[in-house]
Amino acid sequence: MAHTTKTFSDDLTGWRYLTQPRRSRPALRENKSVKFVVVGAGFTGLSAARELAAMCPDDEVLLLDARTLSAGASGRNAGFAVGVSQFGGPVTEERVAECKRINRLNHEGLALLRAAASPESNSDWWQESGYHYLAADTPSARESEHFINSLRNFRLPYRALNRSDIERELGTSHYDCGVHVPLGALVQPADLLYRLVDRLPENVRFFENTPVEQIQQGALGIDLMLSTGHTVQTQQLVLACNYEMPGLGFLRNRIVATTLSGSFTRPLTDEEMASMGTCPSWGVLGLHGGGATVRLSKDRRLMLRNCVSYNGGQLLTPKQLQQQVPKHRERMLKRFPQLESVPIEHSWSGCEGVSRNMTSFFGQYAPNVFAAAGYNGSGLSRGTALGTALARLMLGGDDQLIKDASGFAEAKWLPPRPLLDLGAAWSLRQRFAGVGEDI
Ligand SMILES: Cc1cc2nc3c(=O)[nH]c(=O)nc-3n(C[C@H](O)[C@H](O)[C@H](O)COP(=O)(O)OP(=O)(O)OC[C@H]3O[C@@H](n4cnc5c(N)ncnc54)[C@H](O)[C@@H]3O)c2cc1C
Repeated sequence: MAHTTKTFSDDLTGWRYLTQPRRSRPALRENKSVKFVVVGAGFTGLSAARELAAMCPDDEVLLLDARTLSAGASGRNAGFAVGVSQFGGPVTEERVAECKRINRLNHEGLALLRAAASPESNSDWWQESGYHYLAADTPSARESEHFINSLRNFRLPYRALNRSDIERELGTSHYDCGVHVPLGALVQPADLLYRLVDRLPENVRFFENTPVEQIQQGALGIDLMLSTGHTVQTQQLVLACNYEMPGLGFLRNRIVATTLSGSFTRPLTDEEMASMGTCPSWGVLGLHGGGATVRLSKDRRLMLRNCVSYNGGQLLTPKQLQQQVPKHRERMLKRFPQLESVPIEHSWSGCEGVSRNMTSFFGQYAPNVFAAAGYNGSGLSRGTALGTALARLMLGGDDQLIKDASGFAEAKWLPPRPLLDLGAAWSLRQRFAGVGEDI
């Protein structure tokens, strides 16, 4: 079986930089034999571990991560835990069943996440008042119409927005039209992860800085070799390692990472906030697939994420990140020229797991080895839903969540490098085609 000697980058950028430092848990430094192991402590792995532990309260669940909590994609995203997806293009009759399945997963994932985190009302790290999906150019304005039609047909709540609504609510005249959807939470991803870990059932034992280097089928179960030099033997294994799964011999040539980057300003002053519209904090998703994601956080920082590249599954180096910052700032000022004097305080990058045909992975991949991964930009809700479904599937369950999670198309084959680099460059060009003012 595969052996990974990869080093796991663990820089302090992203949402963890913007919150209270946390003391990490120690690495696993002993041999163990347990019934369940979950590898990866992002939203997928936390959800699987939580469900396994709740369903088998007498068994120990070992949760291992190569990095410290929040250093992976789950701590580096834009913080939109969606309740509804925007599907792109008209939702024609033949797409209806598939779109409903995805929305059931979104709803369920959001509900599971809320139940696990149990946020206080008016919490700083969880606001559940939905998002603005906005259009600043002609192709995205068409998407706005398609989205509104699908929301109406699915009988989901929404509010159509024109330019003056948007200007009044957000303080920008950049966008032409859009829609506000109330189903969805805006989260501070690092704080949410910390909360989820603190609330794990007692029979989950979590070890950070514990890379799994090799997995093999042994005589008595599955053997995991750790970089700490120790071995774990288990009866059932969940792999929740996102785009790093191929390093352990799974999803090879099926999943790849693109690297995204964005920046935050310093917190806005009272005077600057007065120019920002009536919503005290909000999130904007672009209606074009290559459009920028923008937020005004509860602590008054403006955030914009608009750059995507293929970087071999790595975060950007400090130098590469610095080169992107002017692109973040230019597009912030395009939307909010009144913030000309507000400096960028912090920038970060993160890797998103994608497949060639934008499908997700879920199911059993070897005897007693189960995995879920690859949600493109919607892993908070979907990862949570699929993690829970995976635990239930492992334990022999058969419910609607498992059925919905099992409905993804097979991923198309991805060529190895250097062909992969050419293919990735082409896909990114496609993603940004026609993005215009939405970038
Ligand atoms: C910039 C950016 C913005 C995004 N915005 C959003 C958004 O707004 N909303 C949304 O829903 N999604 C968003 N996403 C996507 C979302 O973050 C991911 O889909 C989701 O976090 C994936 O969760 P996961 O648990 O499957 O994987 P991850 O969070 O990547 O967790 C996998 C874990 O496995 C660990 N691991 C890997 N290999 C090993 C090993 N060999 N041994 C031990 N541990 C290992 C890693 O350290 C990592 O912690 C965004 C992503 C990025 C990068």
